[in-house]
Amino acid sequence: MTQQLKVKTIKLADAGIGQAPFYKGVEAHFSADDSIAVFNSDKYIIFPGFCDVHVHFREPGFSYKETIETGCKASARGGYTAVCTMPNLDPVPDSAEHLKMQTDLIKADACINVYPYASITVGQKGEELSDMDAMAENAFAFSDDGKGVQSDDMMRAAMLKAKSLGKMIVAHCEDNSLLYGGYIHDGVYAKEHNHKGICSESEWKPIARDIELVKETGCSYHVCHISTKESVDIIRKAKAEGVDITCETGPHYLVLDENDLEESGSFKMNPPLRSEEDRLALIEGIKDGTIDMIATDHAPHSTEEKSKGLAGSAFGIVGIETAFQVMYTSLVKTGVITLEKLVELMAINPRKRFNIPLGVDYTVWDLEKNVTINSADFLSKGKATPFEGMPVQSECVLTVCDGEVVYKK
Ligand SMILES: [Zn+2]
Repeated sequence: MTQQLKVKTIKLADAGIGQAPFYKGVEAHFSADDSIAVFNSDKYIIFPGFCDVHVHFREPGFSYKETIETGCKASARGGYTAVCTMPNLDPVPDSAEHLKMQTDLIKADACINVYPYASITVGQKGEELSDMDAMAENAFAFSDDGKGVQSDDMMRAAMLKAKSLGKMIVAHCEDNSLLYGGYIHDGVYAKEHNHKGICSESEWKPIARDIELVKETGCSYHVCHISTKESVDIIRKAKAEGVDITCETGPHYLVLDENDLEESGSFKMNPPLRSEEDRLALIEGIKDGTIDMIATDHAPHSTEEKSKGLAGSAFGIVGIETAFQVMYTSLVKTGVITLEKLVELMAINPRKRFNIPLGVDYTVWDLEKNVTINSADFLSKGKATPFEGMPVQSECVLTVCDGEVVYKK
């Protein structure tokens, strides 16, 4: 039996987290037995538990890829205490009955706070609105993530319904008519290596459409995983006009681009890694506040499903255990953004936008530790990461959710 750390319950607001997004010198807040010595050093730092509004935990339906239990454990190891699970499941949470199948599993197996999305359309097929009324009470928000809502009329109806229920629409923006079987960015690498490309327009065109619908309907709206420079520009302009819009991007889009591509399924995700110009535009978007938050789009698959190269592998990479390490090493240590800004992006802004409570939730990190990302260490069932072998600085030593230790190194 593993010995549970005894941790005093503290409210981060009382510890100064309300003013500063992180807090150094945490020893006073912990009980005296086995943890106190660890936290006597300045090199340890306490953050509010991270919050990821975009993960795939694969249950019900695909537990060979991930389960609520393994997804939560992996999240805790990454410093997360709250995650929001996407609805591309079997069954799709498109009715109260189907959603309950997921919420029952969450109640039984989750060690951190898990908030499930309900789908926008029945079966995520885009043909008929899901039973949004019946699911509103237990759904975090509405999304058809994994697929774009193709029909303008369907998206308009979804926005009107979501608004009437006081819920947000969280959109995976992808125009199927522009895909042409593509699976990596339609850029230099695709041309040189004879791969089918996904154009940037397939992402930014639906965002532009949705912005017009948000203006028309007054719905609160959030865009998933933006990856193109045009998306940043369009959202920046909409925000300046006062449109109720926020967006996220993933660590991989900020750190990698098509120049880093390898002929491996670990580099295949949707949207794809774009050009260097796109990546730099996303960093500008982070710096000027156009991009509100970092979400991992943690999307585990089996090793077999990811073993078929760029063309044949499933879309999606894992990211929940490496997000902070990669962001801290690549953006904070290099001076691109401050540590405070990173904590806003990973813990504060998602909670503010989506009204996700912060209880006795915090995570303690050793910011001086040098480690190499090794997927064999992951608690997630998914092992496909483009960051395999990357030297990073920082390591999670403890995560506490609702006053309980959920991860301890
Ligand atoms: Zn998506």
